[in-house]
Amino acid sequence: MKVLVTGGAGFIGSNLGDRLIEEDHQLVVIDDLSSGKRDQVPATANFYQMELDSRWLDRVIEREKPDAVCHLAAQISVRRSVEDPVFDARVNILGSVGLIQACRTHGVKRFIFTSTGGAIYGDADEIPTPETYSAAPISPYGTAKLSVEHYMHCFRSLGGFSSAALRLANVYGPRQDPHGEAGVVAIFSRALLEGRIPTINGDGRQTRDYVYVGDVVEAFVRALRSDVQGSFNVGTETETDVNQLYEQIAGAVGTSAAPKHGPGRPGEQQRSCVAIAGIKESLGWEPKVTLPEGIEQTVEYFRGQVVAVT
Ligand code: NAD
Repeated sequence: MKVLVTGGAGFIGSNLGDRLIEEDHQLVVIDDLSSGKRDQVPATANFYQMELDSRWLDRVIEREKPDAVCHLAAQISVRRSVEDPVFDARVNILGSVGLIQACRTHGVKRFIFTSTGGAIYGDADEIPTPETYSAAPISPYGTAKLSVEHYMHCFRSLGGFSSAALRLANVYGPRQDPHGEAGVVAIFSRALLEGRIPTINGDGRQTRDYVYVGDVVEAFVRALRSDVQGSFNVGTETETDVNQLYEQIAGAVGTSAAPKHGPGRPGEQQRSCVAIAGIKESLGWEPKVTLPEGIEQTVEYFRGQVVAVT
């Protein structure tokens, strides 16, 4: 297959790109490098440094004629989406709709969208939360992701658009940005390896569902190969709170340093964890990497990064 990955220079997109190359697929990457890194794009990929809303987007799809598209490029900051919802909507809604339209025009056979399992349900009272739970996002970021899922449904109804959305829980693993607002595993790992003490916001009892990037990549590959339609949670059905996570990361780093606690973030979601019966049944997918194993691999990656700069 020839697969186009948008956001293929970023954390999840570049891990996916590596896997596609390993499996002998042809890879095309579109990324504006706003947060992604050029050296994370496999050397054999056809790389286009461009924004999603570039007037050349349609020409690239026409020229490359990919069989399938995995759409990961996005404005990923929930905080920025609150501060500047117009920018968020421009990238995450209009950018996605423009891409989908180009895919429809040029006969792309399969489209996989990267949605969110964390931000789409809000503070759900059903945990783990299934796809059937009413999605009521409380951020412009979550609202934009849900809007694109609705566009996908609409284009499927109009005919000839095979697509699925993967609602990812909290993804972690090698290459995650340790300087971002999210990505707590990367942030804690990097800080502890550099001898800094990370700050936990609030009492640290807020929970998330942490899923390893290698497992997420497997979900993309399975979704690409299949013809399932609709939206699927990708997580572990396991809640871990930030205090437990800190202890596990500190253990992998080999430090007994206690964390600092800062003020809680106003409006922060307290619990998030997704149910995965849907993707188990449709794609036979389930997570393989346990949290301790995944943390071990992530800490090893950041150990290499820290050694490289010192
Ligand atoms: P990332 O920032 O590493 O990757 C996003 C990539 O998109 C970057 O390489 C960036 O340069 C590129 N990009 C941003 N805006 C662009 C634009 N306008 N045009 C072209 N390229 C652009 O983040 P990530 O964590 O790898 O996220 C990938 C996808 O997964 C995103 O759609 C994100 O919303 C989604 N997601 C991530 C998580 C998570 O826990 N990391 C959870 C749920 C959903």
